[in-house]
This record gives sequence, structure tokens and C-alpha cells, in this order.
Amino acid sequence: MKELLFQVSDLVGRPGERRSVSGTMDVDLRVGESWVRGPVAAEATLEGIPDGVRARFRATASAHLVCTRCLIEWDVDLEVSEEQLYEPEPDDDGYRLGADDTIDLAGPVRDEIALAIPLRPLCQPECLGLCPTCGSDLNRDPCGGHDEPVSSPFAALQGLFDPPDH
Ligand SMILES: [Zn+2]
Ligand SMILES: [Zn+2]
Repeated sequence: MKELLFQVSDLVGRPGERRSVSGTMDVDLRVGESWVRGPVAAEATLEGIPDGVRARFRATASAHLVCTRCLIEWDVDLEVSEEQLYEPEPDDDGYRLGADDTIDLAGPVRDEIALAIPLRPLCQPECLGLCPTCGSDLNRDPCGGHDEPVSSPFAALQGLFDPPDH
């Protein structure tokens, strides 16, 4: 279903003409362990340009994040805004004015939301993460460290959840 598809014959080639549109779209995006899923509300101001239409859009979505260090999960609201041109020639992302003077905001909105999802979310900047030896959440349940290495499956997992910067 294309809920952000708009017919813009009244704007194409008429610089200065503008109107507002709004709609929702279903999104199912995953970045690392985090995701945005469900309806996303978007609104846009459409403005005529000589060869097409300029859309300035805003969209809001709720993202489910997972801390890369301690694996705590939480939700945040994302708000994105961007400008997109629709002309007969496709832009670098392949977005263009449709042959029947339609524009589809779904792709640009989805792109911006994907960019807004943090690549390596942290529940707090100083998150202490999990103890690599016993798996305790060191923010809530400090284990105080271990004198002797203990064989534990968490030791192997730690490297997966907190990869080194590159
Ligand atoms: Zn954390
Ligand atoms: Zn420990």
C-alpha cells in the first residue's frame, strides 16, 4: 500500500505554488539490534519548481534500541526532516517525478529514519556494560571483579556485543 503517494499535476512547473500533505506508512527497519516497526506519520510541504516538485517533509517514529554494552532495551522517539526534489530525471537515490505527475515520499522518509537509528546505541554515555567474566550488569549489579579467570560463555559473548571501533 502506498500511502505517501501524491498527485502533483497542480504544482509541477509552477514555482511558488505550494500545499501541505500528510499521511502514514508502514516501516519495518532493522539496524544492528535496534529496530523501527509500525506506522510512521509524515507531513510535507510541496512546492512547484520549473521541472517538478520540491518536498520538505517531517516524520516521527518510535525506535526500539538495545544498548551495545549492557543489552538493556528502551524506546525513543525519532524525528527526521529533509528536503527531496522530484524531477523527470532520477536523482542519485533513484527518486523522480512519476510519469503521471505522482511523487512517492515513502522512500525518502524511510531513508531518513534509517539514518536516524543510532548504529551503536548506549543506554548512558558511561554505561559499564557486562562483566566479561560472570555476565553481571556492572551498572546495576557490580560483581567487583574476579581474581581468577572463570570459564564462562559470557566471556566469548562480550566481544560480539561491543565490537572495537574501527
Ligand atoms: Zn548500557
Ligand atoms: Zn563479574
